[in-house]
Amino acid sequence: MNRIEPPTFFDDHAALRALASNCRLRSYPVLADHVDAISEGYVKYVEANGNAHAISNVQLPDDVADFLKNHYKSPPSAISYIGEIRRRSGIRTCPMCGALRAGTLDHLLPKEDFPEFAIFGPNLVPGCSCNTLRGRILTGGPNERILHPYYDDVLRERLLVARIEDLGAVPRICLRSLLDSGHADYASVAFHIDQLVNRTLVVDYLGAEWVKLVQRPKSLSTHFRRDPPDRETLVDILKAELDRADDHHESLNNWDSIFLAGLLDASVIDWLFERFSRPGRSSGSPLISLRG
Ligand SMILES: [Zn+2]
Repeated sequence: MNRIEPPTFFDDHAALRALASNCRLRSYPVLADHVDAISEGYVKYVEANGNAHAISNVQLPDDVADFLKNHYKSPPSAISYIGEIRRRSGIRTCPMCGALRAGTLDHLLPKEDFPEFAIFGPNLVPGCSCNTLRGRILTGGPNERILHPYYDDVLRERLLVARIEDLGAVPRICLRSLLDSGHADYASVAFHIDQLVNRTLVVDYLGAEWVKLVQRPKSLSTHFRRDPPDRETLVDILKAELDRADDHHESLNNWDSIFLAGLLDASVIDWLFERFSRPGRSSGSPLISLRG
């Protein structure tokens, strides 16, 4: 999850006009009759800051809706920016769920329900499989909606940590929201976590990181080649690793940071320090014996 800047290297309105006036495309000439209405929809989308509750459909005949969806699938030269956005977005942390790679481009407002935004740059967001997993889910109750990485500034804040309980070889792990229930975006953030982030493999990833930590502590931080001499040093090491993960992934809500922030819970710190300082344990060895 992350707030990112929308792509600005093209003009959606000019591209739409160029597309509609291309007589070699099957959408010619019918698309031209709807350019003004679609353009107006684009303006309203931006005015609504991508808030799905505040965006109304532009009424389009079925054939025009299909032309736009097909143009997204096989972009003619007028909208070649689609390929370029996809190329630029692949290597980043997924702004939708925090997975460590995005990999695809997808529609924030699903093209099946909002074909008028099928080729609209601000509606095309980098994502991973999470966007397919949420399907066409977009809104819930009045304040519940999928967050928009180009508009929702709350995504700049640390929103999620791992909650790790029943500490041991196989702890219970889930996601915990850090947002205060009085925050204006509380319901939307909770909805986004529930309907999108929780459908991914995030909990499996956090579980695998825990196994790595307790079996090979130095795989989490090279500082763990030696056991931390006191609780304060352990906290400092984990805070430094969290800083590093935030910087490296350019996001406070990437899956590594979600894990590391969860380790800073007092009960987890207590458990880890007790394990690091067990009498007779050799430095760098597992925190849990495979034999239990
Ligand atoms: Zn994702």
